[in-house]
Amino acid sequence: VKVLLTGGSGFIAAHVLDILIEKGYEVVTTVRSQQKGQKILDAHPKVSKDKLSYVIVEDIAQPGAFDEAVKSEPGFDAVIHTASPFHFNVVDPVKDLLDPAVNGTVGILKAIKAHAPTVKRVAITSSFASIINASQHPETYSEKDWNPVTWEQATDPKDPATTYRGSKTFAEKAAWDFVEKEKPNFTITTLCPPLVLGPIVHYLNSLDAINTSNARVRDFIQGKYKGQSELPPTGTFIWVDVRDLALSHVLAIEKSEAENQRFFITAGYFSNKKIVEAIRKSHPELSDKLPLSSAKDDTPEGVYGYDNSKSIKLLGLKYSPFDAAIKDTVDSLLEVGA
Ligand code: NDP
Repeated sequence: VKVLLTGGSGFIAAHVLDILIEKGYEVVTTVRSQQKGQKILDAHPKVSKDKLSYVIVEDIAQPGAFDEAVKSEPGFDAVIHTASPFHFNVVDPVKDLLDPAVNGTVGILKAIKAHAPTVKRVAITSSFASIINASQHPETYSEKDWNPVTWEQATDPKDPATTYRGSKTFAEKAAWDFVEKEKPNFTITTLCPPLVLGPIVHYLNSLDAINTSNARVRDFIQGKYKGQSELPPTGTFIWVDVRDLALSHVLAIEKSEAENQRFFITAGYFSNKKIVEAIRKSHPELSDKLPLSSAKDDTPEGVYGYDNSKSIKLLGLKYSPFDAAIKDTVDSLLEVGA
């Protein structure tokens, strides 16, 4: 079975790739440069060329960006689309985040429909960003909820967090619209994780280049809040282990129950306070780099609920514990060189 994985150089995609390889899939992954592609091949020296290769897609925002990448002989059976910018360094909201998210998602679906008739299943990395309603949290979040963000709010250059959330919301909506209007020969599955934590297995030349969601763990172990009595705000109070999320992508292309379904992929609550205490427990030698143990947990009383039962029931996901995820994250960061 042959899979096209977009954005193979990313934090989450690298874990998806590991699972695909372990399960014996043939994988072609898209990257933005030859150098990034070579790093992926170097990380898998035992995997043969016919099982793992890469193609270059420099900018997913461009029209027709995926038209060549989806063509393959023999054809792909499934596509996993993870590539999308996740950062808050926004100068131009449309160019930096909204276009690559939306055009990338619609672009790959169009390309598959036009050029890859063998593809039957497509999994797309969406986000809790497309579920959350930050101005009015419901009692419990589930797959039924949609972020009501407007294009006007998302294009406010002073609010990059809303731009990012808008980018994920509009991209996922565009994917469902595409399926409804175009009635393609494939089904889609969207995966909506909140903050994703876990070990890095992709190439990083330094911790300065760490992905956005793990940056807070790096900051803690590098002593950015050393000795402080207050923690930076947690933001979103739910999380998932990157390895569980990666597995959900592979199950999404394998299980018939996942076809045309949206999944909320979360293990449950966490906070920056819980990250700090988990680090203190697993790596006591880093204790003097951390904020004070008296620093308060900012989880609000009556924080919103989450319903992840669909992912457990239909995908059969089992969620991993928090402390182990933090331990493994820190170990992987120390290996890169904190
Ligand atoms: P990374 O930044 O590690 O991965 C993003 C990937 O997208 C990289 O491979 C990047 O390539 C690629 N990419 C971004 N913009 C473009 C572009 N214009 N053209 C081509 N490729 C591009 O982050 P994650 O692994 O965390 O993110 C992967 C997906 O998961 C995204 O869709 C993100 O929205 C989603 N997500 C992540 C969460 C998290 O907490 N980490 C939470 C919820 C959803 P390059 O590295 O070369 O720039």
